[in-house]
Amino acid sequence: MNILRPRVFFLLLLISSSAFAVRVERLVDNWRPEHYLVNITLNDQLTEISSASARINVRILKPTRVIDLDFGELTVDRVTVNSKAVEFTHKEGKILVALPEQAQAGDTLPLTVDYHGKPKDGLILTKDKDGNAAAVGDNWPDRVHYWIPTLDHPSAKATVTFNITAPANQEVVANGKLDHVETTATGQRTWTFSEGAPIPPYCMIIAVGQFAKVQAVAGAITPLSYYVPLSERDLAQKGFSPAGPVLEYFTNTVAPYPYEKLGLIVGATRFGGMENSSAIVFTSNLFNRAATPSIGMSARFGVPSNTVSLIAHEIAHQWFGDSVTESTWSDLWLSEGFATYFAALFVQRFEGEDAFRASLNNAALTVFAYEKKKLVPIFDRDTENLMELLNANNYQKGAWVLHMLRSQLGDDAFFRGIKNYYSSHKHSTASSEDLRAALEKASGKDLRTFFARWVYDSGHPQYELAYYWLGQRELRIVLSQRQPGNVFTDPVPVTISTASGKRDIVLKPTGKLFIERVPLRQKPTGVEVDPHNVLLDETTIKGN
Ligand SMILES: [Zn+2]
Repeated sequence: MNILRPRVFFLLLLISSSAFAVRVERLVDNWRPEHYLVNITLNDQLTEISSASARINVRILKPTRVIDLDFGELTVDRVTVNSKAVEFTHKEGKILVALPEQAQAGDTLPLTVDYHGKPKDGLILTKDKDGNAAAVGDNWPDRVHYWIPTLDHPSAKATVTFNITAPANQEVVANGKLDHVETTATGQRTWTFSEGAPIPPYCMIIAVGQFAKVQAVAGAITPLSYYVPLSERDLAQKGFSPAGPVLEYFTNTVAPYPYEKLGLIVGATRFGGMENSSAIVFTSNLFNRAATPSIGMSARFGVPSNTVSLIAHEIAHQWFGDSVTESTWSDLWLSEGFATYFAALFVQRFEGEDAFRASLNNAALTVFAYEKKKLVPIFDRDTENLMELLNANNYQKGAWVLHMLRSQLGDDAFFRGIKNYYSSHKHSTASSEDLRAALEKASGKDLRTFFARWVYDSGHPQYELAYYWLGQRELRIVLSQRQPGNVFTDPVPVTISTASGKRDIVLKPTGKLFIERVPLRQKPTGVEVDPHNVLLDETTIKGN
């Protein structure tokens, strides 16, 4: 997803206390969901769920007598296993379902929860900007269980079928393919959508409202439709015009698009955009954003450049985050860092090298500001409030880690490794170690030191480079690293200028103080560190 107001977020960081305990994540240990069949009937005003049932195909992983489902405060009417009513307790965000007898590893059980009520979160019951009622799912990070009983952890991926019954004047969209729309005896319509690929629970959504549904004019590599408030019907084609090229670019760069269709929805989300599989929701002001002097307009698409990035970011998530999902919350950068970097790659391809460089520079400044306030690894096992993980580490620093890997491995090995990583974990989960393994295999390089320093440790190199012309055909370079913590051993490109031209060398620091003697015939007129911006570094230079 894309954070709407990062400044508010930094403020939250300042007042939150740091946690010393390792975060306890919801485990997928004794059972896992394989498929959800979710039937929801909304009332005429779209202000509550009149009736619902979720049938979950449960696969047993270890002998157990209890299935623990995450579920919010809606009223549970009945729970059945194999169509027989069973006992359950419902409190503190969980339904504990007592199985009639101990289930064994390998068993599969259909478990159904009947329920109704007004969700306090997850399914946002609201009005669109025209004042029309709407019901839109918005679940990140673990808010789907406020309206669907689930195992609410990203690694518990499952396929899902929705049967959504709503007043006949409403348009409905959900994950996956629209199978059919039927009119009920009472004149409502029931919409059936099926997502045949397993998706993380936070990506399971429906959107119901009086949308104008607009088909993309230009052909796209998957059926592409826009769902916007009626008053914005004429804005949709231009506003979403980057989407077709984005889909094509990622298909060529990574792999074919993983889902049955793509719906882009303007509606209710607490984020700038939320990457629900095949049904992305964008903030309601998407088409009303103005270009700022520092960001500007995209000449190619005629929308603000940050809107191009936002659309590319959410679509990149379809591959990274939705199809290849982070195994744990500590691996969130595999979702957000990838979406941020692949959006930047789209910018590089379609908006040019300067725009790409600017986005990397802005990302670096965001990381530096963040690390002044909080110095923790990208792989963060401690932060308890998952919303606090929407930070510069997982977005901008994660993107920079990918950029540095690309620079150090070369485009060929990097993109081969990324394609391999994607295809090995498609429709499944991946860890930071899985990414390391894929890139090591593609490049033949040992990346343990790189990952140890950049992913599992904190900070960035703060180089201080001093150079001394010794007048005897030798330049002495002293590279000190001023950051707290361990040395960064990444190669440091340096360009030395003299009256007769430029010379590129690469320093390979082995400690926080590193000295290199460079044969040089003339006195240098200048020395530049990281001239092509391949390191997330801050540098000061001193010459004699
Ligand atoms: Zn994102």
